[in-house]
Amino acid sequence: GGPCSVEGKEQICEIAEEVKQAGGCMLRGGAYKPRTSPYAFQGLGTEGILDMVEARKRTGLPIVSEIMSADKIDEFVEYVDLIQVGARNMQNFDLLKALGKINKPILLKRGLSNTIEEWIMSAEYIMANGNPNVILCERGIRTFESYTRNTLDLQAIPVIKRLTHLPIIIDPSHAGGKWWLVEPMAKAAVAAGCDGLMIEVHNDPEHALCDGPQSLKPKKYTELLRQVKGIGEIVGKHVQ
Ligand code: PEP
Ligand code: MN
Repeated sequence: GGPCSVEGKEQICEIAEEVKQAGGCMLRGGAYKPRTSPYAFQGLGTEGILDMVEARKRTGLPIVSEIMSADKIDEFVEYVDLIQVGARNMQNFDLLKALGKINKPILLKRGLSNTIEEWIMSAEYIMANGNPNVILCERGIRTFESYTRNTLDLQAIPVIKRLTHLPIIIDPSHAGGKWWLVEPMAKAAVAAGCDGLMIEVHNDPEHALCDGPQSLKPKKYTELLRQVKGIGEIVGKHVQ
């Protein structure tokens, strides 16, 4: 859990404490943001990464953040525990090859309009270059439906389980684009056998610099984790 974007040291540290208290096992936060508009907030860059490092120091939570280009690999190797490749970079093959040459785990999000086969091949780019530590993340795909931001492909969970040995987590926040869709979809994803959830959490979603409408407040996030724990037990998954 964590905000879409790191907005400053106090913001990320405050949310990190909430995520930790709720029982979250990792802190997310974007420092390099792939925004549709070049005029939208682009992230704090290195400063944002260092703010996350401070949040890790205060809470003990490992951190996950998105890398957008290979020239930042040294920075990510030094500071970030799990390196995220965003949906828009799923087929940035040079980036994938470069990430195959390091030994940090990679969180590979599914592209907006990519098939499961293409997604698996992108994971292969990382693994074939020497890094076997890949986690897949389904975050909704583009369909004709426009009421929701994307359409969450829950079928990807059993398909990935059948075709690969890789863990798959679900990001219901970017899938639905609305905070009230996060809870039902997260619960369905755990019931369907996913290995984890990535959820956007913000202490002041109304004023968030990015993705406020799909962010949960800490109280809702806490309640969600309590519920998925119960569902996890029913389907034989230990929820950390
Ligand atoms: C994110 O997780 O911050 C993000 C930008 O997601 P996606 O790449 O799935 O759009
Ligand atoms: Mn986001």
